[in-house]
Amino acid sequence: MTETDLRAAKQEILDYCLRSMEYGLNFNTQGNISVRLPEPDRFLITPTDLEYDRMTADDIVVVDANSNLIEGPHQPSSEVTVHMAVYRRRPDVQAIVHTEPVFANVWGVIGEPIEGALVNMVIYTKGAVPIMPFALSNRTEFGDAMCDVMGDLNAVVWANHGLLTVGPNLRDAFKTSVAVESAAQVLLHARSVTSKPIVLDYAGLGITESL
Ligand SMILES: [Zn+2]
Repeated sequence: MTETDLRAAKQEILDYCLRSMEYGLNFNTQGNISVRLPEPDRFLITPTDLEYDRMTADDIVVVDANSNLIEGPHQPSSEVTVHMAVYRRRPDVQAIVHTEPVFANVWGVIGEPIEGALVNMVIYTKGAVPIMPFALSNRTEFGDAMCDVMGDLNAVVWANHGLLTVGPNLRDAFKTSVAVESAAQVLLHARSVTSKPIVLDYAGLGITESL
């Protein structure tokens, strides 16, 4: 990867970080974004504890699959081991977005999966979004446990914490986060008037095309 391409990849991460705040998916220094680089065993990830509106592309750091800092002026996100567990388990995943949006978090607090309220969500997630029971996300065992819950889906809610989405590129991983939060909001409204809202079963939709 050329220096120019690396710089563009860092800028793209920063752009989506800022967009996550604009869309109300994150507050303070919450959330993190990473991408898999074309070089073997190299990933870009946001640094720990730095506000997005104070971040520049130069603050995004390079790590290896063991979460070691390879290059950059900061330590990686405290949830770097979660990202690396996903890249290890899911070779199809090229980008990961972790946010802490309100409505997805409501379902995590209730402890119920986010059912397929909207077709836009299930196309991206490939099914109802499961809930990973609460555990501290900076512990190394969290990543594997979360991957077990997420399986082949593209999203998982961390109870009492937030949302993680994955994709074949950063744009799709981010769009999945937005789609989940939107469906989570609609489903909550629907459940306030009926205990049995109409929801979609992804497998029954016969969608074969990938993102
Ligand atoms: Zn978090």
